[in-house]
Parts: sequence; C-alpha cells; structure tokens
Amino acid sequence: MTYPSIQLFIDGQWSAGADGRTLDVRNPANGQVLGQVACAERSDLDRAVLAAQKGFETWRDMPPVARCKVMQKAAELLRTRADDIARVLTQEQGKPLVEARGEVVAGADIIDWFANEGLRVYGRIVPSRGNLALRQMVLKDPVGPVAAFTPWNFPVNQIVRKVGAALAAGCSMLVKAPEETPAAPAALIQAFADAGLPPGVLGLVYGNPAEISSHLIAHPLIRKITFTGSTPVGKQLAALAGQHMKRVTMELGGHAPVIVCEDADVALAVKAAGAAKFRNAGQVCISPTRFLVHASVADEFANALTRQAQALKVGDGLAEGTQMGPLANPRRLTAMASVTEDALQRGARLLTGGQRIGDSGNFWQPTVLADVPLEAKVFNDEPFGPVAAIRSFVQLDEAIAEANRLAFGLAGYGFTRSLRNADLLARRVEVGMMWINMPAMPTAEMPFGGIKDSGYGSEGGPEALEAYLNLRSVALMNV
Ligand code: NAD
Repeated sequence: MTYPSIQLFIDGQWSAGADGRTLDVRNPANGQVLGQVACAERSDLDRAVLAAQKGFETWRDMPPVARCKVMQKAAELLRTRADDIARVLTQEQGKPLVEARGEVVAGADIIDWFANEGLRVYGRIVPSRGNLALRQMVLKDPVGPVAAFTPWNFPVNQIVRKVGAALAAGCSMLVKAPEETPAAPAALIQAFADAGLPPGVLGLVYGNPAEISSHLIAHPLIRKITFTGSTPVGKQLAALAGQHMKRVTMELGGHAPVIVCEDADVALAVKAAGAAKFRNAGQVCISPTRFLVHASVADEFANALTRQAQALKVGDGLAEGTQMGPLANPRRLTAMASVTEDALQRGARLLTGGQRIGDSGNFWQPTVLADVPLEAKVFNDEPFGPVAAIRSFVQLDEAIAEANRLAFGLAGYGFTRSLRNADLLARRVEVGMMWINMPAMPTAEMPFGGIKDSGYGSEGGPEALEAYLNLRSVALMNV
C-alpha cells in the first residue's frame, strides 16, 4: 500500500480543507516526505460540528443492538485490513511493523468490548418513599457531540479508546487526530464508514491544534471534550473547557516508577520492565521511567537491563527483525540529548547508549543511566523516549516516597515476592494503574487513566462509558 493523501472526513465525505491548505507528513526513519494532510479552516469545523449534531440525533435514536452491530463490523474490517494499516502506521510513526499490527488488532478488540458494553447502559428504578403510584427512575442519556484530541504515539488506539466508549454510549464524535500521523487514523475512520456508520456520527479533522481546540471547545453544540497528550496542554484545554462548562476526560503524561524490591525476581523485572521501557521507543504514557531498585540487587538489575538494551535491534520499523524504531519526530531527539546530557553532568553513570544513531532519521540508542540524582531532568520531566534512569534505595518507604514525589500519577510497576510488599505497593503508590510482577497489560475492561497531574476520567471499563453519559432523574406519578 503506498502512502495515501489524507483529507478531512466531514458528514460522511472525504474532502480537502476550505482553502486547500496542507501539511507535509514525514517518515521518521529517513526524514522524507511521505505525503500531505489537509488542514481544516473554521468553516470546515463549523460544517463538521453541524454534521456531528445531525449524526448524534440519528445514532442516539438507533437501538443499542443496531449500534453494537455497526461497531462489531468496523472491528472486523480493521482486523481484515490490519496488515495494510500497520504499514502506513509504521511509515508515519516509526514503530516496528509487528507493534503497529498489534496496535490495530488490539484496537479491534477494544471496539468489540465497547460495542458489547453499550448493550448494558442500564438506568435504575428507585422505590418511592410512600406513594405506590410514584415511579422514580434514573435514566442515562448520551452527552451529545464530543470533540476528541489525540496524539501521535498510538495513532489508532488513542482514538479507539475514545471512539469506542463514545459510540457505545450513543454519542457522536469529531476527532482532531495528529497531523504527524494522519493516515492510520483515516483508515480507522474509513473502517467505521464502511461498516455502515451513519454520516456525521464520526468526523475527522486535522490542522492547527490550538486553533481547532479553542474553536471546538467553545462551540455550543460540542458537549464534551476528551484529550490525550501532555500535561501542560491538558491543563490549558481543561481550563478552557471549564470556562464553557464542558465535561472533560484528560489522559495526560506520566513518569512511571518501577520499584524492584530486595526479594524480587530480578530476571522477571528486567524482562518485563525492560521490554515495556523500549516499546514504541519509550513514547508511551505508561512507559516505565524511574527505576528504583533495592541496593542489594541494583548492580545485577542495571547490568541485565544494559545487556537487554544493547541486544535490541534498532532500525526502520518496516525492516524485518526491527525491535525498536526511530523516535516519532525530531523534537524527541532533542529531548533525549537534553535529558542524557543533563543527567551525566549531574553525575549519573552512562551504562549504554546516550547517542543519536546516524544522521538520517530520528534514531536514538537505547540508553541506560545508573546512579541518577533526583535533581536530574530525567527524574522529573517525562522523558518520553528510550532512556531508562536507575536509582537505588534501601528502605521500601523511601522508594514509595520517591514514587509519589512527582505531580504525575499515571502508571506504576512493582516487583517483589513478598505479599506484604506487594500489598503496600498496590495501596501506597499514587497512580491510576499499577502492575505488580508483570509488564503493563491494559485491557478494555479495566479502568485506564491517571490521577494528580496525569489527568482524570477513565478510558477503560464501564467507567469509560459513564464519561459519555448524563444522568436524568425522572419521577412519574401514575394518576
Ligand atoms: P505537545 O505538548 O506539543 O503535544 C502533545 C499533543 O497535544 C500533540 O498530539 C499535539 O498535537 C496536541 N496539542 C498541542 N497543543 C494543543 C492544543 N492547543 N490543542 C489541542 N491539542 C494540542 O508535545 P509533543 O512534542 O507533540 O509531545 C511530547 C509530549 O507530549 C511528551 O513529552 C508527552 O508528555 C506528551 N504526550 C503524551 C501522550 C500520552 O499518551 N499521554 C502522547 C503523546 C505525547
């Protein structure tokens, strides 16, 4: 499949933006221009919102079983098209083909789960206080048209978690997908269109993110905002949404602590956390980032992680056997150079990596730093790249305090054979998601989201649907 030219999807039709403006899309493996993506103007956005309102009225009134069937068909089409979609995803984002294919297939599974969960949006009947002729009912209604803003690290799945829940709840959605990785989102939206989704239920736009978000958040027909991306941008959008009294879900950055206890299975910890660390070149919101390792096993852990990092095959995601691709954009290369240099200047030890690979494409060596001081940037700002930073601890309380020191609270990991330690980690680490003795395994049926500066709301489990539902109390007297 050659890289397609990407347009806007408004009211069931693909079209160029009103003034024909486009942006180049580049391949992060070689910097070459792959194609162009259309940019939406205000008039395009207004048209898209009107279509989303019309689509909402149609979709809301369809029986949940009919909605479920359309969603299941879209999931089936995604599975059939997974190889083709994975190829464009790898070309525009960089991740290895096998990861790209895995993302698409996992996306189909998430859509299926939400499709079925949409059949279980139940209200309730509350007994009256005295009068038997009084029926008290709690009804759940879809909130209305939603504006979604999604990032480039998982071009398909960041949309899927939002679209799956919104459609299952009976909402329509206008997605502002990432301009840097537009083709995989377009293929996802096409699968829904081909599955028979009525026009307007799902729209797709690209353009200037700040212009689009400020216009859509303020638009009276948009009833809810959902954003995945960095904490600073999330705070801006949440503030704007507050001014317009719009409901919000925010899935923001993290800085995941990995606590490896004295009694841990160190080989398991290295294998699980190491694989998660370098997946998608570390550009994952739940990526392990602060490795806190008990002093008695710190060297063993650091040496094994170093060997794992050195053994990774880094290259073009399309090449056979590639285990880690390039970073998605040159900004990440600059960030990796900055956090590595800063840590070394402050006295950290470089165990492996620390350099750009070649001078074409955004390749960065899998990097392991040990004895990283707390003040180092890499222990404070989300690295969002293939840099592992290790520190040792003696008391578990000390490690938990360090885990909780930052304002982030998205994911955490613990490795221990002790039930007491595991229980302490499960209860005391301030995160929205905690994995113990295993790699991250987010599933559609479990809540997905953070606390503190990592945002609020869930993008998994039944709670994800609640985020797209309004409650209505109805009291009805049978006269
Ligand atoms: P960024 O903060 O400029 O952008 C992050 C995302 O927000 C991008 O998709 C961007 O298009 C979007 N965005 C930016 N300004 C916006 C606005 N005013 N309105 C709507 N959307 C807007 O950073 P970046 O260089 O693209 O990404 C790097 C940082 O972003 C990382 O350090 C990481 O913290 C964060 N990030 C997080 C996730 C996640 O899964 N939570 C995904 C991608 C990026």
